[in-house]
Amino acid sequence: MDWKEQLRNQVNTLERLRLYIEPTVEEIEAIETMNTKWGTTPHYAALMDKKDPACPIRRQVVPSLKERENRYGIDNYLIWKENRDTAEHRPDAIARQYHDKIAFAVTDVCANYCRHCFRKEVVVDHTLELRFDVEEGLSWIRNAPEIRDVLITGGDPFLLSNDRIEYLVRKLREIPHVEMIRFGTRTVIALPQRMEEGLLKVLGGLHRVPIWINTQCNHPKELTPESAEAVYKLMGCGINVGNQAVLLKGINDDVDTFRKLHLKLLQFRIRPYYVFYCEPAPGIDHFRTPVEKGAELIRDAIRGHTTGLAQPMYVVATNVGKIPLAPDYYIRERDEKEYTLVNFKGQVTRMPNIPE
Ligand code: SF4
Repeated sequence: MDWKEQLRNQVNTLERLRLYIEPTVEEIEAIETMNTKWGTTPHYAALMDKKDPACPIRRQVVPSLKERENRYGIDNYLIWKENRDTAEHRPDAIARQYHDKIAFAVTDVCANYCRHCFRKEVVVDHTLELRFDVEEGLSWIRNAPEIRDVLITGGDPFLLSNDRIEYLVRKLREIPHVEMIRFGTRTVIALPQRMEEGLLKVLGGLHRVPIWINTQCNHPKELTPESAEAVYKLMGCGINVGNQAVLLKGINDDVDTFRKLHLKLLQFRIRPYYVFYCEPAPGIDHFRTPVEKGAELIRDAIRGHTTGLAQPMYVVATNVGKIPLAPDYYIRERDEKEYTLVNFKGQVTRMPNIPE
């Protein structure tokens, strides 16, 4: 199936879901009673375990009644997170936490609707209406000379047609102060067929304004030969692919899965870039771990245990930007003369310090 057929056959009805899994009573009730957008591609659906509702792939895309609970989430999350109630006038399409970069949302459509999405209010539940108007966004960027880095997001921007993507890239490259364009897309994982010739032609080549891609892969089972091929094709036209995993309870919050995920990403030529704390959007309490869990996993699964290339930065994304949280075991003591340092095995060493 090519990418358009994948989308035409999107698994978003109970009838189609039953071609892949035996849905539980709870899953059926969630689908039938909750007013929420859901669905995935046949490619991604085929990775689900037919019988196990705890399957890490299945939990990411099949609605759950737990989404009705919101004990620990923040209502109107995107308003807070994306600083949408500040005095600065910005179109809905522009989200800002930094001086020199912005996120530019160009669609609210996705190949699969992740149940843990932090933009759930707009993309999945439609409890918050935002106007993702491309022209308004472009015009705002043109008039904001401090913006050098534009992250095109959504929804999933690679669900736009090649012509629309070409237009966006061309218009952004015409803006003298834009130095780089990034795309955030889950298609590398959920719809790898999207990396076809037409799109590669639009994205590829040597330009003043390079394109970078970040995808989201949360579990090693999501990495298929089709995704490997998609990444290879992107690299072939000069585009690096990074990963922004989300720390998800019961999906990747154990040492073994976390390590396997990051090692397998490298095998697929995807650079582990960030691991995000699962953000407190409403209705996703059941995916969230304590905040320190990610730093513990970096310590126990990755740091020192394997190559430096497999080390993502663990961050908490907030309304004032991303805040990195590192494991806190390295420095046992320090003074002007000496640092006492501890490695991941608990071995202690000393390093002479040097005054300014
Ligand atoms: S693909 Fe991205 S925007 Fe779409 S539902 Fe998943 S996390 Fe949200």
